[in-house]
Amino acid sequence: MIDIRKREVGIHCPNCKRIARVSLKQVVDEETIKCMGCSKNIKLVDKNKSAHKAVRDINKSISDLQKAFKP
Ligand SMILES: [Zn+2]
Repeated sequence: MIDIRKREVGIHCPNCKRIARVSLKQVVDEETIKCMGCSKNIKLVDKNKSAHKAVRDINKSISDLQKAFKP
């Protein structure tokens, strides 16, 4: 089963602009990560729950596709 939540996305640290890689799951869960560049905490915010919605929609599409290919 493919899970889109494991996909990594790059976000810019608001402090040092370094790109930090986070999984979509971390964005959906709005975790706090530590920047590798400046050691500051970055709070991930799922604005308007768009990441949550995207993950749900894409996972649904994938599971529908897998059903379609079943013998
Ligand atoms: Zn930083």
